[in-house]
Amino acid sequence: MSLPTPPERDDFVYADTVAPAGSASFTLPPWRVLIVDDEPDVHEATRLALRDLVFDGRPLHFDHAHSAQEARALLIEHGSDIAVMLLDVVMEASDAGLLLVRVVRDVLGLSALRIILRTGQPGYAPELGTIRAYDINDYKSKGELTRTKLHTCVVAALRSYAQVRQLEAHRRGLEKIIDASNALGQARGLRGFSEGVVIQICALLDVPAEGLVCAHVQGDDPAHATIIAAAGDYAPLIQHQLHELPDESLRTLLAQCIHERRHLLSENESCFYFQPKQQFSIAVCCRAGRPLLPLDQNLLEAFSANIAVGFANVHLNEKVESLAFLDQLLQIPNRVSFTQHIDACLSHPEEQTLALIDIDDFANINATLDQQFGDRVLQAVAQRLTHHFSDQVTVGRVSSDCFGLLGPACDIHPDALPEIFGAPFLINGESLRLSVTSGFVDLNAAKSSGAELLKDAAIALKQAKTSHRGKAQVFSDELRRSAKDRMILLNNLRDAFSADRLFLVYQPQVDLYSRQIVGAEALLRWRTEDGSFIMPDRFIPLAEQSGIIVAIGEWVMRTACAELKRLIDAGYPQLRMAINVSHAQFREPGFVNMVAGILYQYDVPAHQVEIELTESVAVEDIDLVMEKLTALKALGVLLAIDDFGTGYSSLSILNQLPIDRIKIDRSFIIQMTATGEQNNKIVNLITGLGRQLNLVTIAEGVETEEQREQLLKIGCLEGQGYLFARPLLHQDLIAALQATPSPPPRLPLP
Ligand code: C2E
Ligand code: MG
Ligand code: MG
Repeated sequence: MSLPTPPERDDFVYADTVAPAGSASFTLPPWRVLIVDDEPDVHEATRLALRDLVFDGRPLHFDHAHSAQEARALLIEHGSDIAVMLLDVVMEASDAGLLLVRVVRDVLGLSALRIILRTGQPGYAPELGTIRAYDINDYKSKGELTRTKLHTCVVAALRSYAQVRQLEAHRRGLEKIIDASNALGQARGLRGFSEGVVIQICALLDVPAEGLVCAHVQGDDPAHATIIAAAGDYAPLIQHQLHELPDESLRTLLAQCIHERRHLLSENESCFYFQPKQQFSIAVCCRAGRPLLPLDQNLLEAFSANIAVGFANVHLNEKVESLAFLDQLLQIPNRVSFTQHIDACLSHPEEQTLALIDIDDFANINATLDQQFGDRVLQAVAQRLTHHFSDQVTVGRVSSDCFGLLGPACDIHPDALPEIFGAPFLINGESLRLSVTSGFVDLNAAKSSGAELLKDAAIALKQAKTSHRGKAQVFSDELRRSAKDRMILLNNLRDAFSADRLFLVYQPQVDLYSRQIVGAEALLRWRTEDGSFIMPDRFIPLAEQSGIIVAIGEWVMRTACAELKRLIDAGYPQLRMAINVSHAQFREPGFVNMVAGILYQYDVPAHQVEIELTESVAVEDIDLVMEKLTALKALGVLLAIDDFGTGYSSLSILNQLPIDRIKIDRSFIIQMTATGEQNNKIVNLITGLGRQLNLVTIAEGVETEEQREQLLKIGCLEGQGYLFARPLLHQDLIAALQATPSPPPRLPLP
């Protein structure tokens, strides 16, 4: 950041057409001299002697008092304007003059007033100590004071008075600068600071606050500088451009100040130039209404240096604030700032609504196209939202592809979204349709904080995402309760996992014709402390959302492989073990290595381990999925697609995947015999597809003999279901294996 070279004295330049300060057009008042003497002649003689005296271009004005008491009354009223007092020592009393000096200094506090003591009787001279203590300029006997001596004496006193006053003015000026700088230090933001500058400069000059501040971007026409702050008559001009300023001379002065990059003074106005940033400058104009005195210039010069630093600091602060509160990509409030907006809104929450809008499949857009394209999409959405709503609605970015809306309920409601997202977005010349899922919270009913309300909206959004994607969900207490229940369940699951209360059961998979057990599927069970069971359909989705499935899944893989090893060793050498793997687990970068490590550790043949994945795995980044599946195949493990037919994978993608088996979902098996009539269409279709793709099919949830027979007829040769066995504990599985036709004899090891 570069500051302008600090203005030197010469940088206070007078604009061309204007006369400098202190010129003849501006006359200063005369020096006031008070003559205190009880002899009327002395008054007359002194007046005559000093009549023609002019000091520093200013003549004298005489005030008269004929006693100490009269003088005291006069000083009480005009003391601060009187420069010199010619004081008789002996008046109503022999020390009346000296007593008055004490009053002047100690009671009235007139420290600048110069005092020349005069006496007719030389014996009444004060002691030296008194002269020093009361800052008496001179002591003369009246006879001594010839006209010339009186002149010299008074001129010396006036010079001394002027110096004392100047010192005092400087001190007051410095105090003002300190006060002004302190006041400015508290002003927030560029606008607040700028307005403070006008007010403080005017205070420094002792004139009413009148002025304005223009911000100018380097390279632009100065006429287009923006008025960012103003005080007094100029206040209505805020946010206007300089060329709209009605006062032509002021307009010209400001433009000249910006153009020449320096301070300019005119008879009534003072313009100051600052450059807080390379490409950006500030011009401050204050109306003094009078030419500046040399002292004013000194003060302004000192103050300008402070302002220059202040502008630079404000700029820095604004940058820091922007980084802390503004989303840098979208230039809208970020989560922190958006939460503060909600907090502020809670003081008048009537008819206010908060919404979270999440772009569906944004991760896919980012992954399949590129991140830059994703950024453009977010920018386009932010722009559409901000344009659609009035200023009363705050649009913020709450997380990567999630936007927040806050404002009047009549504007923010679920029905508004189809209108906003109905038209396609044009991004890099491409037309893109977006759908969104949203969660709404009515602030009327809310008693909590911004952060809590964001959580409520996130709960509604999550609910919408899991149950009706692409739609809106309004938050309710019921939702809060179920979210809380889920949270409690998740915590309990964590505890159960660390306390070893999770275990596996094994459901036999059979040859449908011979009923011989050819394998088993490992299924997870959770026994709670009170001995009841929680089924995986309830807790697996939670474990997936929270990520704990990665640790649990590894444990499942390990336990199932250990079981397989035991079964092989127990005399069932060709059994297959099917293990369910969640999408979240499969996505983990170390997944393939983890499988390889466990196979090695438990020394189980890879081709007897079957990994069950759902179709949803194939929906995401297909290249990555292919790479992982190929690596798994290279280990030798079997791959099965679980719940086949319930997902959305395209057949062309399925065709490319290196899988071995499809598991026909239980719902299709139920359909086969549900209506009392045979309805084999879908199972037929899936089995035929398997055959075409060279895949084995296995039916899930076979419960009846009829289903078994139908499946055999269609050509599906394997199945699992309650007809054969429920999921079993290890010893029950052994019993089941012993009870069913024995497997082919174990091949001798080489
Ligand atoms: P899945 O992999 O499709 O497992 C089959 C489910 O069908 C099991 O339910 C099983 O008990 C049930 N089932 C089997 N035969 C019948 C039948 O004849 N009739 C009926 N009504 N049901 C039958 P379970 O054990 O409750 O598991 C539910 C789901 O939980 C599983 O579906 C699987 O997606 C998931 N899961 C279970 N264990 C694990 C695991 O270790 N890891 C992961 N990632 N998911 C698991
Ligand atoms: Mg399964
Ligand atoms: Mg299944």
